[in-house]
Amino acid sequence: MLRLQNIGLTQGAVTDLQAWQAIVDGMPTFPGQVTEAKRQFKLKNTRSNPAFQVVRSALTQMHGELIRCAYCEDSVADEVEHIYPKDLYPERVFVWENYTYACGPCNGPKSNRFAIFLATDGSEVDISPPKRKPQGWIPARPPKGDALLIDPRNENPLDFLWLDLGASCRIDPKMGLSRRATRRAEYPHFVLNGPFAAERANDHGFWQSLSPADIRNRKKMAKNRCTGRRTPVKARLWNDQSGLGAQFGWRRF
Ligand SMILES: [Zn+2]
Repeated sequence: MLRLQNIGLTQGAVTDLQAWQAIVDGMPTFPGQVTEAKRQFKLKNTRSNPAFQVVRSALTQMHGELIRCAYCEDSVADEVEHIYPKDLYPERVFVWENYTYACGPCNGPKSNRFAIFLATDGSEVDISPPKRKPQGWIPARPPKGDALLIDPRNENPLDFLWLDLGASCRIDPKMGLSRRATRRAEYPHFVLNGPFAAERANDHGFWQSLSPADIRNRKKMAKNRCTGRRTPVKARLWNDQSGLGAQFGWRRF
């Protein structure tokens, strides 16, 4: 998971986002807010909308030279993702700090999945809406509580996670965390160790087996192919300056 350095938007984009958020917030009921949030976001999140051009430009700067997904640090990411899903938190649908870039393979399984520690007793509860909504299902405002999902806009994922470069090549909770922080580190595993875990482990083993000369050549090749949807794993592992790669001193190239 990438650590994202926040940058600001232009005043015009800020004003637009606030105005659209006010439309959503003005709906009298929670189900109405959810419906309007989805409708407005679909309308406004277009390549031709000047405010979202500013949003995308800022996200592009924040996600590194190769524009990697904030969750897996792996694929090229170009989908504006709500960290707090709009189906549950329509009051954050146009909040800039709730946006990140995610890739399709992460955004798909994450979707509306969300869990919180209840404010009342700290217990962990899954507040994801049902995937297949029964007829007549009406969304309800979630109870108050803190998110399990690490927020890459406001938190440092490296406080929670490390990449095991030994046998497993898995992204795991750091040692010595509190029980609550450990649960938070474990929570995004459907993303972090989901789509790319086996591939990451295979690629790591492959690169470990290469000679320095092989690596130099492949780095050159990787650089030339970085514009594709997927890049060779060393490019993926080494490109980021703020995520887990930095923890191990992987170099950019
Ligand atoms: Zn991803």
